[in-house]
Amino acid sequence: MAERRSSQLRVCALYPELMNIYADRGNLLLLEQRCRWRGLGFTATAADLGQPLDPDGADLFYIGGGQDRDQRLCAFDLAESKRDAVHAAAERGAMILAVCGGYQLLGHSYQLGDETLPGAGLVDLHTVRVEGPRLIGNVAIEVELEPGDRRVLAGFENHGGRTHLGSQATPLGRVLKGHGNDGRSGDEGVRQGNVIGTYLHGPLLPKNAWFADWLIEQALGLPSLSELDDSLEQAAHDTARRAAGL
Ligand code: GLN
Repeated sequence: MAERRSSQLRVCALYPELMNIYADRGNLLLLEQRCRWRGLGFTATAADLGQPLDPDGADLFYIGGGQDRDQRLCAFDLAESKRDAVHAAAERGAMILAVCGGYQLLGHSYQLGDETLPGAGLVDLHTVRVEGPRLIGNVAIEVELEPGDRRVLAGFENHGGRTHLGSQATPLGRVLKGHGNDGRSGDEGVRQGNVIGTYLHGPLLPKNAWFADWLIEQALGLPSLSELDDSLEQAAHDTARRAAGL
């Protein structure tokens, strides 16, 4: 959790145009709206190809998913010009949320045929794009973000890459339904303190509003947020769970 308490959430999106498949930008809209409903400020900045990344400039850094060809451009840019800043941001306690292609970029590498794309090296994992079928479908995972508090994240996954966690990495959750990191291990995503990666699109946060609130709390150093009327969000979550077969 951030050390200082703040009443304004500053979000920085990396590659918001290229890494924005399945309307992943909806995650940012949800964060903004949930802040505004509570009277919290919200600002969004972007760091695109060739642009510098200020590690102190945001409380939450976000990367969405992308197709392989766009991801390739971002992988080289990230490794060449943003890697140190991403590490510095994580070290100072900023939240980092990465979805699908963005998640893959947080690891050591993404092997794409003969080519090995570099990653940020922020978490101990690597991803291999295999010839086999893409891992597609509704997915539900069980997570325990706080000790003893088990909850379900529901969403949709579509990835050709299989992600393998190294010995230093712990999964974000356990697959209840769906494929997860590699279709075999039962692991989904990665969590390393304030760094979170997952394959869940949907977009992720509108279907799991409680998770969005947890991210806001962590990013701002707030112990809890005021309640909102979440009946619509809960309905979206329930639909996503049912779609996954829970
Ligand atoms: N290009 C990556 C893959 O196919 C990520 C896809 C995505 O972000 N949905 O594995």
